[in-house]
Amino acid sequence: MFVNNDANQRLCESLVSTSYVRQADEASKRQTKLFSQLVSNRKLPTDGWNEQVIESFLLELSQLDSNNFLDNCGVGEREGRVYSKLVQRRNFGLHHGIGRSGDVSADQPKAIGSSIIAKLANILVADAMKISGLQSIDSTTTLLLPLCTGMSLCSVFNALRAHQREEQNAKEDERQNTIVWTRLDQKTCIKSILASGYDVCVVDPILEKDELVTNLQALEKELSAEENENTKKIACVVSSTSCFAPRASDDVEAIAKLCQKYNVAHVINNAYGVQSRKLCVKIEAAMRKGRVDCVVQSLDKNFLVPVGGAIVCASKGNGYLVDKVRKLYPGRASISSTLDVLITLLEMGKTGYERLLDERETNYEKLKMALERTASKYGERVLETPNNPISLGVTLTSSRNDLVTKFGSMLFTRRVSGARTVPMQETKKIGDVELRGFGASFSTYPTAYFTAAAAIGMREKEIESFELQLEKTFKDFVKLT
Ligand SMILES: *Cc1c(COP(=O)(O)O)cnc(C)c1O
Repeated sequence: MFVNNDANQRLCESLVSTSYVRQADEASKRQTKLFSQLVSNRKLPTDGWNEQVIESFLLELSQLDSNNFLDNCGVGEREGRVYSKLVQRRNFGLHHGIGRSGDVSADQPKAIGSSIIAKLANILVADAMKISGLQSIDSTTTLLLPLCTGMSLCSVFNALRAHQREEQNAKEDERQNTIVWTRLDQKTCIKSILASGYDVCVVDPILEKDELVTNLQALEKELSAEENENTKKIACVVSSTSCFAPRASDDVEAIAKLCQKYNVAHVINNAYGVQSRKLCVKIEAAMRKGRVDCVVQSLDKNFLVPVGGAIVCASKGNGYLVDKVRKLYPGRASISSTLDVLITLLEMGKTGYERLLDERETNYEKLKMALERTASKYGERVLETPNNPISLGVTLTSSRNDLVTKFGSMLFTRRVSGARTVPMQETKKIGDVELRGFGASFSTYPTAYFTAAAAIGMREKEIESFELQLEKTFKDFVKLT
């Protein structure tokens, strides 16, 4: 900013040697080029940027926001004033948030730096998702929201209601009021439906060997018109890809075909599925061969940033629901999660991102082997769930059912976090929906078990320590039973 222009360079040359100024100028031009490449290529840089470059890039952009103008005099009720210098530094002086009251993706006139950052984050996230295999999306049909997955799903359902009301102008009792949900026992999934004011119609999966797969027959029965008449009006189907074993990823392609056949909207909860190429291939096929109105995924679970954001996307040319979400979103958005993911993807680059995807796949195999080794010593086994590429389940049969959750707390005491124990025959009520066999996504799963996941960013060392602690835990556990 200070020396990257000709006039100032001449002035510098009056202070120090011309050749040194030229040389320094060449170096700074290389940084300038990184930015021009980013904006013109609209893709992840092949190699990540270093921290210092990213920092100066952000500080320079923040100078484009009006709160940082030297002579700015603010007379509005929101002028990006911040009391604490620590808060200011934590935000790189980007205080104005993103968007305008009419559209959360619109340029914010008071904050052009922030607006550029938001656009770039959007472009890079869409590119990363393409690298994972979601080829049909693009940045125009990709929206970052400063809300977690559950709240983002909620926004999608609300947008769907607004859209369907405008489309049909239907009378109150003819309006779509029900969401058909392929059961996945994660409370947020069902709460996102209830919180948006819809009734839930639960479609339980079916058990195939160890694995819980989509019950397409039951789903079709719900969708077919005869069944439906005068009872419930279906707003959409919600399916899921990433989930706890032994539930498999839904057969989203078959569901998409059914939704097309019955002309019903289809929303895919792809919470942590972007990290898995296998899951992305499934979604891509669903988008190409059937009906998918929207796909929702977590920013933190997929891109190694703090909790707080999600991505809502759709295939190119089919962004009506994504657009509705951005227009219906009331207010401005926090820049936090957008900034975090932009910084992260710039630092990671395409090479870093692909390496993480590869490592995760290898880690899944390693984790599976570690679990098999340990389980077999104690008469247990790894559940066969070929259609779940992230999570693995291990039976806890030789124990008493009432001690199963104890196994989880014993692991936690040994500093193993994230393992999830599921006893048999638990029942939970969420809102007015009763779920038998809660935890397993199935009312009568034949065994208790625990799960562990090979998620993006997991290190090999963690698998090794886990194996060690698991062994000790099993040893202590058999003494209890
Ligand atoms: C994590 C997760 C959610 C909830 O995500 P939040 O970001 O906490 O809202 C919803 N559904 C599934 C399948 C998940 O794994």
